[in-house]
Amino acid sequence: MESGELRTDITDILKKYWGYEDFRGIQLDIIESLLQGHDTLGLMPTGGGKSITFQVPALALQGVCIVITPLIALMKDQVHHLRQHGIPAAAIYSGMQHDDILRILENAILGSTKLLYVSPERLASELFQTKLRHMNVSFITVDEAHCISQWGYDFRPSYLTIADIRLIHPHVPVLALTATATPAVVDDICQHLTVPSPTSFDHQVKERSTSFRIFRQSFARPNIAYIVQHSPDKHADLVRLLSGIQGSAIVYVRSRRRTREIAQHLTEAAITATFYHAGLQPADRDQRQRDWQHDRVRVIVATNAFGMGIDKADVRIVVHYDIPDSPEAYFQEAGRAGRDGQPARAVLLYNAADRAKLQKRVADTFPPRDEVRQVYEHLAYYFQMAVGDGYGVAREFNIDDFCQRFRHFPIRVHAALQLLQQAGYIDYDGAADRQARIRFLVTRDDLYRLDTLTPDEDHVVIALLRNYGGLFADYTYVDESLIAREAGLTAPRTYDVLMALSQRHLIHFIPRKQVPYVRYLQRREDSQHVQLPPAIYEQRLQQYQQRIDAMLSYVTDNSRCRSQQLLAYFGETDSQPCGQCDVCLSEQDENSPADAKTLIINLLNDRKRHHITELLHLPVPQPTLHQALTGLIQEEHVVQEDGFLTLK
Ligand SMILES: [Zn+2]
Repeated sequence: MESGELRTDITDILKKYWGYEDFRGIQLDIIESLLQGHDTLGLMPTGGGKSITFQVPALALQGVCIVITPLIALMKDQVHHLRQHGIPAAAIYSGMQHDDILRILENAILGSTKLLYVSPERLASELFQTKLRHMNVSFITVDEAHCISQWGYDFRPSYLTIADIRLIHPHVPVLALTATATPAVVDDICQHLTVPSPTSFDHQVKERSTSFRIFRQSFARPNIAYIVQHSPDKHADLVRLLSGIQGSAIVYVRSRRRTREIAQHLTEAAITATFYHAGLQPADRDQRQRDWQHDRVRVIVATNAFGMGIDKADVRIVVHYDIPDSPEAYFQEAGRAGRDGQPARAVLLYNAADRAKLQKRVADTFPPRDEVRQVYEHLAYYFQMAVGDGYGVAREFNIDDFCQRFRHFPIRVHAALQLLQQAGYIDYDGAADRQARIRFLVTRDDLYRLDTLTPDEDHVVIALLRNYGGLFADYTYVDESLIAREAGLTAPRTYDVLMALSQRHLIHFIPRKQVPYVRYLQRREDSQHVQLPPAIYEQRLQQYQQRIDAMLSYVTDNSRCRSQQLLAYFGETDSQPCGQCDVCLSEQDENSPADAKTLIINLLNDRKRHHITELLHLPVPQPTLHQALTGLIQEEHVVQEDGFLTLK
């Protein structure tokens, strides 16, 4: 196929399914590299149109595209959207029934699936690997690729399995995507995802040469003004900030308890607010998110559990009440402001007490080794697990109950379990989603004879019967959002209907809930023998400390543009001052429109056409810029046409 032909092909696909005329940014570069069969790494900021880069080529190529992503909510959402557009897509993740997984894998082998989303934990399963051998795979997409790097801030051990998956189809290219990666993490992603060539089995060769083509779109977000605000009274400053600006807002705090307190405080100050954290019931969380998404409340006060897969374009301000523990996390969370390209602010409130709090987080995240061993031992008492037993055993884990019985602090137990997980002793998930279960309490005949069902109840019952067999015999896991869609109802309405049917004893409905669990991956050891190697303890501790230090430097270095500081952290050292952060503004107080005019003329001096947005890169506050440009146009020094500027 000629490349010209291919390009028409993908442009047609883009237009047909997404309605866009053309690709933007580095989308086309990534897609072309992939279509030529190269392993490709795309670094794109949030909102850069990442999903287009794998969804379009998945349709252009023969076979099924495997998409690996850790975000189950995002996975479900994308599959739903693709299907609505008539694109055959499916997802497999933990908590699904064996029969459903089997059916989906068989369909992929038969060739009736274009995109198959897989959560990383599923990759290691024998069933998946066996079926994968028989699939005609077009390419493998690794979303959130930074999760493969131990140097990354969000390392997921299950991502390391991706290398094994590659060995099954060594000639199938990989597309790795991330919106956050330091240069060290970029190297690491390429190393881990490269299939070893025969020569590199030589153990002398430590560094494999990688075949990756890397495309990078600047992470600069010219419409976001980053501001660090010294704030001895954060409550009062928060109210002032939110009162002084219109539109949607997110306030990030560390503790669940405080999300509620702050939301209440804002409400008392006549600012509509709700709160959100992972400890709320799923239906409650969904409701709060929707209230905010649809502007029924202005502000959502949340822990970092809020944000994955959130797609609200018109967030005007993101305030951090506490300091996040890495520039990566800060950049992602702050980056949820201004996705629509309109001016937005990212404000971090900082005071003297924060430094000590940050240092305490280091100790809490890496408790001493003996404490980790003690948690391991108490865990065995808790589950009554003898030395040598427990291989593969999974148990529900109530962290509060555990802490009460053995006098631990939840935050440190959580950290200890994370370390034990990374060392391969256990698998620990603090928030595994368990699906809702339903069983009919009446017979099928009785059900058909019932004439007291409301229309909504009727729709829900029909949706249940259509999608699930065996409901009359036993409890069956069901997907509440699927039922809602099929019944044509909202999720909360569906929930209410299911509760009502349950109260009338027509069905028994056990709502979806989050069940933390612990699974032993090895037989229980004597706790004296528990090993935490340096790669898991010292090295990660050191990296964590470095990220904390980087955040401290960000909030205290008032000599360098905030945007430049963040970009430099991600390896972009050639960026211009943003002209709108607190540092730039304080330096430019004396900047007059006359200076701004000189800067504009200097920019246009090359006699080329410049898009008006290029002015935003000049180190001048926007109002001054606007004033200077208006002056230049009135004085007829500069001509503006269709958003482009030229020197006259
Ligand atoms: Zn700046």
